[in-house]
Amino acid sequence: MLDRIRIVLIGTSHPGNVGAAARAMKTMGLGDLALVSPRCEPNAQEAISRASGADDILDAMHRFEDLETALADCTWVVGCSARSRTLPWPMQKPREFSANLPAQLSHDNARVAIVFGREDAGLNNAELQRCHAHVHIPTNEAYSSLNLAAAVQVMAYECRQAWLEYGDNAASATSQHAEPFGVEWDNPLATHDDLERFFAHLERTLIAIDFHDPNNPRQLMARMRRLFLRAHVDHMEINMLRGILSAVDKSATIAPSKPAQDRE
Ligand code: SAH
Repeated sequence: MLDRIRIVLIGTSHPGNVGAAARAMKTMGLGDLALVSPRCEPNAQEAISRASGADDILDAMHRFEDLETALADCTWVVGCSARSRTLPWPMQKPREFSANLPAQLSHDNARVAIVFGREDAGLNNAELQRCHAHVHIPTNEAYSSLNLAAAVQVMAYECRQAWLEYGDNAASATSQHAEPFGVEWDNPLATHDDLERFFAHLERTLIAIDFHDPNNPRQLMARMRRLFLRAHVDHMEINMLRGILSAVDKSATIAPSKPAQDRE
């Protein structure tokens, strides 16, 4: 179970935080560290000293140019945020996230990512809108922002508690955690990559049929993302949705050539 959880750090600017995050992960048995566009040298001496023996996590970490590639194979993505946002999004406390982990990881293709933002600016809206849910670590409202590696530690601890309670046989625990995949699901879950292709297709089609004006977006695509991410669609469902869009594309290109009297 723990080997299918990825910690993703975006735009980290202090190598010490990368090292401390690696240490936080290793103490809790996590090993998959991904850095997206780091703003520092993540293998600097300070990272190695702060990793304090968790060098193997630093040696194995992957670097990505963009978030999409870092998340491509993930089926459940949460973004950790110290602040609330303009567009409300499904929220979980760390304990709720971990109680749901066995169910999220019950399918063979399942992989979970926990995304953390920049030390100075956190996660931006586009990044948060790529997540199924947001996790807020309940802190002092008057001083709510943890150090990056401290936030990683809290989430890694929660992952370990779920593993200690349910073990590697996540599927056996799902009867107690029926939301939303409490029974063995019939299809693999859609990956982040499947979803991003679907959202790109959806946007193209909505523009083509004049439903969406990219110059006046009015949060349409953000709301579409929230809707479909909330449904947590599987592979077959995403293929059906893509098929519907292709049928719409086809009739949208055919429709203008029809004689005016044939139209409604
Ligand atoms: N100054 C930033 C916070 C940066 S802290 C801001 O205002 O958004 C670096 C990262 O640690 C955050 O992006 C978030 O991923 C995580 N983090 C810090 N405090 C958190 C909290 N209370 N709940 C969830 N994540 C938190």
